[in-house]
Amino acid sequence: MELLSNGRILTFDIETTDFKANFGYMLMWAAKFLDEDWVWYATIADNEDYGTTPLSMMDDKLIVTKLRDIVDEADAVVAHYGSRFDLPFLNTRCLLHGIAPPSPVTVIDTWRIARSQLAMTSNRLGTLTESLNEKDNRKSSLPKEDWKLAIHGDEGALARMLDYNIDDVTSTEELYIKLLPVIKNHPYVGPAPSNRPATETHTCPACGSEHTHAHDSRRTKNFSVFRRRCMNCGTAFESARRKIKP
Ligand SMILES: [Zn+2]
Repeated sequence: MELLSNGRILTFDIETTDFKANFGYMLMWAAKFLDEDWVWYATIADNEDYGTTPLSMMDDKLIVTKLRDIVDEADAVVAHYGSRFDLPFLNTRCLLHGIAPPSPVTVIDTWRIARSQLAMTSNRLGTLTESLNEKDNRKSSLPKEDWKLAIHGDEGALARMLDYNIDDVTSTEELYIKLLPVIKNHPYVGPAPSNRPATETHTCPACGSEHTHAHDSRRTKNFSVFRRRCMNCGTAFESARRKIKP
């Protein structure tokens, strides 16, 4: 299948120490843009002082910030169970670190799509990729022991976890491509006219401040949405929208 896209579709997956983000933290993430052949990733061991103190092994601020930045580049993010887990976890870690969370983005949750549009025995990633992907080279799941070792900084276990993490991202992307015909409200990724909108608001809708900066633009089903970020409260908001779908 040929993929011609003017939009940026980012598939990502996070690995964490716990299901809840006020207790747990992020160990790593992997992410892939549909129009690129490589996978981006970052692990908690990327911190320069990682392993020097117990606290340094729980400090996910660097990788959380990097993931926030890459999500901000996307027109839509694809993540399995992402609307329930990955994005809320990322949002929570951002707020706890006092950094602005990613701007609102279209979330394509392959779990949610399978649940509402398909009739499978299970909507787990493994079940879906086994049935729908061409060649399912995804390993079942990381052994519990490796997960515990990774949390405690074992290099080998962290590397094995990253392998699973990357596999999950490439498998989820392939699953997303398979699911395209049943995805509703997919951002419009065709060519768009280039005239910028005439009217733009610079006022933050959350706090009323005029102290806002142009942030980025992203695509929805019919529009290109221009966004600004409030320098007062951190809210990202829509400053204008332009119709792009002919
Ligand atoms: Zn504001």
